[in-house]
Amino acid sequence: MNKFTFKYHPDPLVTGVFKNDKAVPCGCCGLVTDVYYDRWFYSSNSGSEYDVNFCPECISSGKACERFGGEFQCSDNVDDVSDPEKLDELLHRTPGSSDYQGYWPAHCGDYCAYVGSIDGSELEDSEFFDEIRETYREDITALDFEDFVHDAEYNVIHLYKCLHCGKHIAMMEQF
Ligand SMILES: [Zn+2]
Ligand SMILES: [Zn+2]
Repeated sequence: MNKFTFKYHPDPLVTGVFKNDKAVPCGCCGLVTDVYYDRWFYSSNSGSEYDVNFCPECISSGKACERFGGEFQCSDNVDDVSDPEKLDELLHRTPGSSDYQGYWPAHCGDYCAYVGSIDGSELEDSEFFDEIRETYREDITALDFEDFVHDAEYNVIHLYKCLHCGKHIAMMEQF
């Protein structure tokens, strides 16, 4: 594993939450980094969400969350998983998805890997469409699958992949 790879977020440069267009000081350790996190961070210390740049090391070590009392994924918007270590890794040592306040699903007893977003109009043509139908989560969206596919046309769809069975799960962007 290189330092830009996370169990639940395998390629943050591809999903776009890491950027490498310039060198910036890390908001936690202060060292200049040319790969940096550029998404929301939820901090209980400040009582709000804010935009900060962290280096990959301060994310993977948990230092950024520790220092600011924060989490990269809102803990209200995750599935329950029996192993608390998995939740800790997802909230505190994994860069967030690009979906602001999005829901992070679990499958086969573990959190899924975030693999990125697609334009919802591409959903029906997606090579994962049959899997997405099979893993569909009406309990989260409160829409039946046909309505979800219809609404997806006007939205961004975030794709997650089960680390165990390999199936894809689709979440609609939350606003
Ligand atoms: Zn740092
Ligand atoms: Zn699975």
